[in-house]
Amino acid sequence: MEKNAKIYIAGMYGMVGSAITRNLRARGYSHLLGHSSKELDLTNQKTVFDFFQKEKPDYVFLAAARVGGIYANNSYPADFIYSNICIQTNIIHSAYIFRVRKLLFLGSSCIYPKLAEQPMDESCLLTGGLEPTNESYALAKIAGIKMCQAYNRQYHTSFISCMPTNLYGPNDNYDLMNAHVLPALIRKVHEAKVNSQPSFVVWGTGNPKREFLYVDDLAEACFVLMNEYLNDETINVGSGEEVSIKELAQTIQEVVGYKGDLVFDTTKPDGTPRKLLNGSRMRTQGWAPKITLKNGIELAYKNFLEGKIRM
Ligand code: GDP
Repeated sequence: MEKNAKIYIAGMYGMVGSAITRNLRARGYSHLLGHSSKELDLTNQKTVFDFFQKEKPDYVFLAAARVGGIYANNSYPADFIYSNICIQTNIIHSAYIFRVRKLLFLGSSCIYPKLAEQPMDESCLLTGGLEPTNESYALAKIAGIKMCQAYNRQYHTSFISCMPTNLYGPNDNYDLMNAHVLPALIRKVHEAKVNSQPSFVVWGTGNPKREFLYVDDLAEACFVLMNEYLNDETINVGSGEEVSIKELAQTIQEVVGYKGDLVFDTTKPDGTPRKLLNGSRMRTQGWAPKITLKNGIELAYKNFLEGKIRM
């Protein structure tokens, strides 16, 4: 990407989009376009088409999505499949019509089968059934990957996709019912500490394992991929660091400085047992994460305390 290229970051004010924007700004890219969902409704086909017709961006980072944790995904499957299919379809098709030079579509590790062999290789896509709690979201993301590939095959576009593992960092969502586990537990542990509660609640059994990546590390991977990745097969972006939910909760307790007890609410679902990505293909692109889980949680907690949070 040339420094004066016009770059559209769909989802610029979300956690991923804002990290990509920070990364590009720090590198001296200044011609960046982005809007909030109130300013530009990406689920509306005409709105998106008109925007592309007017702006004609050179490059697109497709980081706009309706996202949420296990409770939100499980409770609002219609909203997740509808919004995500609309957003990505409108943007990918407009990118084709208005000849975007390259587009990067961001997916999720939940696209892989629930019981896929671990660590999950890119090739296990569509080899087994999905985890039911986030099936709608996963199906939308799979459609996005396949749409990019179909346009590449039929129209010779340059639309690539990457599958990040569970992300966290600045601009995360701390709403307890809609958040992912890491921000939800930061908030719960913090509130237990300031309210001098003897314990805090962790959903499920605490046994599922998850891999976490700090969002600025993902943003760096996106930059590398936009510049260098030409293959239309999707590519995993993971940290390789896998922890159980119980271990995660304990690490958050250390960072927050809270010694109370964990109480497991087993009426809440565990979701998929493990979701570790095989990140070796991304490593061959010369990328590696820089921020460890402990360090990342410290940064996220600082951001939470500074009040730069969505609840
Ligand atoms: P997932 O990775 O798609 O399953 O989504 P989440 O990040 O929402 O949840 C990951 C795991 O953390 C699941 O096993 C949840 O049951 C567990 N978990 C424990 N406490 C919480 C919590 O307070 N909020 C959320 N979202 N998940 C929690």
